[in-house]
Amino acid sequence: MFRLDGRVALVTGGSRGIGRAICETLAKAGAEVYVNYAKGEAAAREVCEAIRAAGGKAEPIGFDVADSKATDEAIARISKEKGRFDVLVSNAGISIDQLLLRFKDDDLDKMLAVNLKGAIASARAAIRPMMRARWGRIVFISSVVGEMGNAGQVGYAATKAALLGVTKSVAKEYASRSVTVNAITPGFIETDMTASLPAEVREQMLKATPLGRIGSPADVAAATLYLCSEEAGFVTGHVLRVNGGLYL
Ligand code: NAP
Repeated sequence: MFRLDGRVALVTGGSRGIGRAICETLAKAGAEVYVNYAKGEAAAREVCEAIRAAGGKAEPIGFDVADSKATDEAIARISKEKGRFDVLVSNAGISIDQLLLRFKDDDLDKMLAVNLKGAIASARAAIRPMMRARWGRIVFISSVVGEMGNAGQVGYAATKAALLGVTKSVAKEYASRSVTVNAITPGFIETDMTASLPAEVREQMLKATPLGRIGSPADVAAATLYLCSEEAGFVTGHVLRVNGGLYL
């Protein structure tokens, strides 16, 4: 069940955290995985080595998703070299947290460029080969914060909520080509992004999570594998919560 043998997949922001776990999980299921990074080339190479050591196939691929030309070229290159492009997991994301009164336009622009425009640019490039093949899987990694809001995360919440509108629109546009498009909204997950949060915020998050633990990148990766599988072929435009019950 949930095999991806012969599929070619790209995970944006695959060098660390949730993205890394997704790369490893898709590769274990048989996909050939392109591990994207912006700055962390060494980390992306390390992910690929770990995948290969476990018997999987992976290649690092560096580009900044905020650069739509570079994103376009990278996806076109994979699709040309491999003759296919089956799965896009749009995971690259940044958060710059600040209360509304202190929130800077520039920080909003940075988050919009990566979290929203980057995701749209990746999907736009990926959809061409998927349409030709009449098969494709796109998964956007949004956030629980896009669904329920969070004090101090006005801009981040805006970009992640917007991704849900993107998911549903792209799902409607390409359903006739058997391309499914879904979103995952992770709750509080243990990665570099959350490691720097003050202890009291972590404690609050934990208390508010009915399942009583912080999520792991593997929790998000398992849900991603399902959405990318053949078995999820009748699931599109869906928002899958992987949040331990934090928001229902
Ligand atoms: P992370 O540990 O900070 O890793 C972020 C990843 O994104 C890195 O691989 C980074 O690569 C890449 N990245 C950042 N900017 C990029 C760009 N412009 N172009 C290409 N890659 C870029 O983050 P994470 O916690 O794993 O989060 C992954 C996704 O899940 C994000 O979209 C985040 O918003 C979402 N999410 C996280 C949580 C959580 O609790 N952790 C909860 C809900 C949603 P480089 O190192 O090369 O820059």
